[in-house]
Amino acid sequence: MNNFSPNMIKTYQACPKKYYFQYVENINVPKSAVPFEKGKKIHALANYYLQKIKIDRIETALTGAEHEIWELLKQNPFYNMECVKSEFALSIKLGYLSPENDCASYWLGGRLDALVHSGGDYFILDYKTGSIPKNPRYDPQTMVYLLCADRYLKDYNLLSFVYIDLKNKQNHVIEFNSVLKTQYEQELYKICTQITSDSLYKCNPEFCKFCEFNKICRR
Ligand code: SF4
Repeated sequence: MNNFSPNMIKTYQACPKKYYFQYVENINVPKSAVPFEKGKKIHALANYYLQKIKIDRIETALTGAEHEIWELLKQNPFYNMECVKSEFALSIKLGYLSPENDCASYWLGGRLDALVHSGGDYFILDYKTGSIPKNPRYDPQTMVYLLCADRYLKDYNLLSFVYIDLKNKQNHVIEFNSVLKTQYEQELYKICTQITSDSLYKCNPEFCKFCEFNKICRR
């Protein structure tokens, strides 16, 4: 059995060699924390707020720019819906019978920023202080989280993934349906099989400039 997160899949899609360094050899290269600090603070605050934990003291410690982003999130109509759970860890098992009648299975999972609802309509929220994915409908995070929530909820009227784009002040909504479900299952199964059967882990020089393994990679 193999476990995969959306980040693992994204890393492999970007560069198999990077996946090898990070997840096969488990090499840890320190990254600059600065670009992630703002996002981390907003995510922590958003989680406390939905859990009805007092946050007044944390709010006063925000910078002007952080405060502006936090206010934007608080006013977002999706964020104001009834919360099912925030920082919600979910997983799903994908497995099919191969032509040889041999069943390969993969566990896929992650942590949703929040799952909210309005009646029978459910929404997976993802707060973005940076950019949203280039192809959000088929991003591994979208696919994995929607399949997980679909399996968890079982009975619902509507299920959607919402990227709350705080940088550009807009919401990007992807509505789940049975066609997407089949596509996602097939696509994710294909990628997981590709990762587990790879032994070469080829380089993709397209991403070398910003890669933290740049100094140790002999490409
Ligand atoms: S330096 Fe380039 S080829 Fe090497 S792991 Fe990073 S992205 Fe891949």
